[in-house]
Amino acid sequence: MRILMHACCAPCSVYCIDELRKENIEPTIYWYNPNIHPYKEYEARRECLKEYTKKIGLECIIEDEYGLDEFCKNVSNNLNSRCVDYCYPIRMRKTFEYAKEHGYDAVTTTLLYSIYQKHEFIKKLCEDLSKEFGIEFLYRDFRYGFWEGHEKAKEEGLYMQKYCGCIFSEESRYLSPNPPKPVLPDDLEYSSRRVICVKKIENKDDYIELLLDADPSKASINKYLGDSDVYGLQVEENIVSLAVILHIDKNTLELKNLVTKKEYRGKGYAKKLLKSLCGNYKQKYNKMLVGTSENNIPFYVKQGFDKYEKTIKNYFIDNYDEEIWDGDLQCIDMYYYSKKLKEKK
Ligand code: SF4
Repeated sequence: MRILMHACCAPCSVYCIDELRKENIEPTIYWYNPNIHPYKEYEARRECLKEYTKKIGLECIIEDEYGLDEFCKNVSNNLNSRCVDYCYPIRMRKTFEYAKEHGYDAVTTTLLYSIYQKHEFIKKLCEDLSKEFGIEFLYRDFRYGFWEGHEKAKEEGLYMQKYCGCIFSEESRYLSPNPPKPVLPDDLEYSSRRVICVKKIENKDDYIELLLDADPSKASINKYLGDSDVYGLQVEENIVSLAVILHIDKNTLELKNLVTKKEYRGKGYAKKLLKSLCGNYKQKYNKMLVGTSENNIPFYVKQGFDKYEKTIKNYFIDNYDEEIWDGDLQCIDMYYYSKKLKEKK
């Protein structure tokens, strides 16, 4: 499947590309952003995207059109509706046109990543263009990775712009009494930027000691850690909670470990991390399983793992060398529950 992804800039592309690559999709990147102002800013964003895509080995097509005059002529009658009347439509129409002419199967856009863009409008616009051009619109709610993508873009040393792009947004950056408010998916809480974010952990082995707090056997952890994705909730500079997610099949995930550092417990961090991951994964998976001891069933049911699946008798006795106690209760049987994520589209 050939996917054309309209990209507004490199920092917004980072997470979107990573997410599609997790699905084994290699998008072609399409730069078309004619109203970025001033020209030096336009150039800086364009060059940064070119360099980043080259570095990660992705094809990048550049529509090199700096269109300040055209933009001003078209939006001057109603500046307040410039985004929906002109800016989004010209970008996305041009992207669909290019996709049609060059035989792409589907179109998507990094505009779906920013929590400051009009997400629902962009989604509807692309759905309409998809019907008009007869090309699939690959919808993903990339906003779930807003902070993760932002952190990675900084680590990559990408050029980070300070405003949306056009001459009016550049003015608003200094003079507007009403800065844009973030709009998040219903199930994601706003946390001020960089203070709290979810991060994918690559150096998994460095966190074994913390994982042992929730699963007290290195042998048990080693059985799933290598094949799992590990995510951490980062508060300021510290990873405070971890979640280990194993991909069972194309519809099902299993939460293998969820733990918070002792000094950060009781603040809802594990819940926050789990909620964010479920929201993110719901675009691709139908359900998430968790196997737990009796004591923790109420916690997981409250987080939406409310469908009983099965019990494995004597699991904690047969699979661990020593007895495991959770408070006053010995862990004996493993209870499996599942949470329904959204149906895959
Ligand atoms: S504020 Fe951003 S989305 Fe709106 S017109 Fe300007 S560049 Fe486009």
